[in-house]
Amino acid sequence: MTRRFKAMRGTHDILPEEASRWRLIEEEFATICIRYGYQEIRTPIFESTEVFERGTGFSTDVVQKEMYTFEDKKGRRLSLRPEATPSVIRAYLEHNLDKRAKVLKVFYMGPMFRYDRPGAGRYRQFHQLGIEVIGTASPVADAEAIVLLWDFLRAIGLKRLKVRLNSLGCEKCRVEYSGIVKSFLEGNLKHLCQDCHERFARNPLRVLDCKQKKCKAVVAKAPEIGEVLCQPCRDHLEEVKRLIKLGGVESYLDARLVRGLDYYTRTVFEVFHEASGIDNSLGGGGRYDRLVEDLGGPSMPAVGFSAGMERIGQALEIDGVNLETNQSVDVFIAPMGGQAFEKAFELARDLRLNLRVWLEFDERKIDRQLRTASRLGVRFTVIIGSDEISRGIVKVKDMTTGEQYEVEQSGVAGWLKKRLGGTDLE
Ligand code: AMP
Repeated sequence: MTRRFKAMRGTHDILPEEASRWRLIEEEFATICIRYGYQEIRTPIFESTEVFERGTGFSTDVVQKEMYTFEDKKGRRLSLRPEATPSVIRAYLEHNLDKRAKVLKVFYMGPMFRYDRPGAGRYRQFHQLGIEVIGTASPVADAEAIVLLWDFLRAIGLKRLKVRLNSLGCEKCRVEYSGIVKSFLEGNLKHLCQDCHERFARNPLRVLDCKQKKCKAVVAKAPEIGEVLCQPCRDHLEEVKRLIKLGGVESYLDARLVRGLDYYTRTVFEVFHEASGIDNSLGGGGRYDRLVEDLGGPSMPAVGFSAGMERIGQALEIDGVNLETNQSVDVFIAPMGGQAFEKAFELARDLRLNLRVWLEFDERKIDRQLRTASRLGVRFTVIIGSDEISRGIVKVKDMTTGEQYEVEQSGVAGWLKKRLGGTDLE
């Protein structure tokens, strides 16, 4: 027997019913972003590996362990994007987008790839929706990003959301904090997992992010960054907190929030859904004031977030939110006999200017066709056979009442449109 293939571990198919919900979610996201003054950007799925090494950060787990890296036929080192932010910055610099406006505000959506251990809510190909704001250090931009994400998640029907907020400080306080954490961890190394030993050597702050129970226990006693934040960093955090509160966002400060990527400065945040749990955040982001420079550009402050479609989908399911997708069919055309297909084909084309039409491809008995029509949930079935063609009519069956009408072929489009009203095509 020929081998049947399966989707690769950590990847999943988005089947039609789910894909139609995803489309709604993506449309809602785009609509909200556009209302907030963001424009869409699409960058390639793969980039030079260096973009992520320098962008996402060489010391991160994402770059160290999780990237899909390969050589192309010319020996170039490429990686599938594990996140979009470095790609967006690369595009920003490549196309001199800083010359267009003082601040660039963009949104994106698409697949990301990380060779992580697949589990609940963790995939190797997953899908993110996100924004980037490049060119401002204002806390208003941080607050706008958080409120936008909040508004979007609420708009699609999620409840019981919470934002965790923290500051990783500026260059100055971060270095100081990193030193304090390092000395603290030095005395606790034997209680840390193997990965954290490596993290300790590369970037001690990474240890704060470990999900292992024993490391969490150590980290719980670590000094908090709040103790070393400089006054401007404190003020920045306070302002973000104040603004998002005005925006109706429920948030709390969490000194343990460091996030897994290297580039954050000052604000970091995560939005989670209470029932899905804190380790299953729906989205997260923060400020990255050094990243543009790290990727070879000028010093340019920026802020952004990304949220995961799969996690959002799970949360919607937990909350029992049933997104109404309307991809049903209005009219079923049942050609009876070989000659009827040409007429049916023309009629379908005509009706499809305004209506959703299913044209049967194969010759089948009428009762079978009607059964398919019912399954599709159509309101009307149009029956065309040789008798109808010779009389210049079609038969139209109202599937809800069972009544059958004879309608002139030339007037059938108008007849159906009148009864079906102005269906909004999606
Ligand atoms: P990050 O890019 O790591 O800041 O993650 C942002 C969001 O992307 C998370 O809150 C998740 O919703 C989603 N995400 C990250 N990694 C994965 C993954 N391996 N599988 C599914 N979703 C993910």
